[in-house]
Amino acid sequence: MQEVKKPKKPLIYYYVIVLVVLMIFNFLLMPWAAEQRITEVGYDRFIEMTEEKDIGQVEINQEDNEIVFTDKEGSAIYKTGMVEDPDLTQRLYDSGAKFSGQILEQMSPILSILLSWILPVVIFIAIGQYMSRKLMKKAGGQNSMIFGTGRSNAKVYVKSSEGIKFTDVAGEDEAKESLAEIVDYLHNPGKYREVGAAVPKGILLVGPPGTGKTMLAKAVAGEANVPFFSMSGSEFVEMFVGMGASKVRDLFKQAKEKAPCIVFIDEIDAIGQKRDGRAGGNDEREQTLNQLLTEMDGFETNNGVIILAATNRPESLDPALTRPGRFDRRVPVELPDLKGREEILKVHAKKVKLDESVDFAGIARMASGASGAELANIINEAALRAVRENRRFVTQADLEESIEVVIAGYQKKNAILTDQEKKVVAYHEIGHALVAAKQSNSAPVQKITIVPRTSGALGYTMQVEEGNHYLMSQEELENKIATLTGGRAAEELVFNSASTGASNDIEQATKLARSMITRYGMSRDFDMVAMETVTNQYLGGDTSLSCSAETQTEIDRQVVELVKKQHEKASKILAENRTKLDELADYLYEKETITGEEFMQILNA
Ligand code: ADP
Repeated sequence: MQEVKKPKKPLIYYYVIVLVVLMIFNFLLMPWAAEQRITEVGYDRFIEMTEEKDIGQVEINQEDNEIVFTDKEGSAIYKTGMVEDPDLTQRLYDSGAKFSGQILEQMSPILSILLSWILPVVIFIAIGQYMSRKLMKKAGGQNSMIFGTGRSNAKVYVKSSEGIKFTDVAGEDEAKESLAEIVDYLHNPGKYREVGAAVPKGILLVGPPGTGKTMLAKAVAGEANVPFFSMSGSEFVEMFVGMGASKVRDLFKQAKEKAPCIVFIDEIDAIGQKRDGRAGGNDEREQTLNQLLTEMDGFETNNGVIILAATNRPESLDPALTRPGRFDRRVPVELPDLKGREEILKVHAKKVKLDESVDFAGIARMASGASGAELANIINEAALRAVRENRRFVTQADLEESIEVVIAGYQKKNAILTDQEKKVVAYHEIGHALVAAKQSNSAPVQKITIVPRTSGALGYTMQVEEGNHYLMSQEELENKIATLTGGRAAEELVFNSASTGASNDIEQATKLARSMITRYGMSRDFDMVAMETVTNQYLGGDTSLSCSAETQTEIDRQVVELVKKQHEKASKILAENRTKLDELADYLYEKETITGEEFMQILNA
């Protein structure tokens, strides 16, 4: 599918090729051809020809002891060995032969010039070029820049966009709308030029990993039917300062030749990070970035080269890169919502055979928070499971199981829990589910299982959100914390002891409580002051504290207080429903996996 444009070969290749051809020609073909034309004859035949006066030119070659001669017309060359013959000169003179010293040389004056003059020069130049190149490579790219011969060996590929169209990218309607304008421009640039509208030179696609940024870029190229240059930011950064910059130059040169076209730079943060002038900064990266900035300024708008770049760390980009005139449009490519997830599942499900019972909406609801790439993976895992079980089509159960595989890993078949451990896990999970169900605002439980998974989870409670949630109230967040503490609360209530099984719950509850206090303004004392800022929005959402040490102490105190309060609430709910807790835990212990419906039936019985 790929049309690969080979990188330009250095000049040395051509020298070598010319040299080889010349050598073959000179040393092998020409002498061979000449040799072929000379007929060796006996001395008697030579005498005969002199007598017949059928001799043109004669060359007496004393050194090799031979006579080379031609016939009258000069059309054939003969050779004969010399014999002691005192009358030779007279005989030749009588036959009217012309004495000559260069029958063979005369055949190819060009050849002799080539051999004696041009060939040595060519060889010298070639060797010189080769050596200097070798030396420069050793000395590093910087030198080669100084000598002006630096050219990156950038492999710039012109890819066909693999026929990807907007319809292949499900959901992401806002992003598609924004990019449709670019497609329209590439189809019909005149329309824009007429009005004097400048289409953006660069478009930055930002969003979490696996949301289809690369796919969208390909789709733009596919829709517009133009070449698609693709390079990853990290491919620019080389060991030697200056190499990356020359790659950027090459890329843009090639792009301009192929315009209109799309240049796609993936993970642009690898070269586009803020130049903060810190000691030990990366010179190569900065040079590459500078070159990119220069190139982007260098070409005029409306010349048909559109640069798309993708990143999941937009906040780390250099402001010079994101200013108008460079990447002046930012297209967010977010995690898909419920409808988006369903559509993505449907797009990928086209490739597999499905049972009629499959309910995509249900699967989409279960896979809340999954990216497009994860959804594609879920479909594939389901198909693999169907094959493993010798079925010809994928069922709902396959899909549900594969969500769990993607979330929690495979079932651990040989993990053997002791009876007591299994009981603890059953109570732990029912604790979560019961607390969730008893708080009106918590999402209903979809499934509870105590089958160990390869991720290390000994069991889990899968909650499912009904519909989309964009906002969460303080109460909902508090309930969520209570649900997270529910597992431990049940263990305490029933076994009067704590286990290590709650570590993940504790982590999540703490994170949530901390965000409520430091970022969502949901504490008594701090009002609407941000104590933390998110530094990595799309990659896990790391935060950095921005407050005094005293405030930090106070924050810690409040976090503990908040979690403690919810923990107590959870304990209270469980204590009030102790009989149901026992009943449900026993049932789960027996069955190992129960659905939300079974759970609710027992709860409401
Ligand atoms: P990114 O560049 O955002 O990290 P990609 O574009 O490389 O993500 O997407 C990875 C894979 O995920 C794609 O090959 C595709 O199979 C799947 N995918 C992601 N988003 C979508 C979407 N919106 N529609 C269909 N498939 C998607």
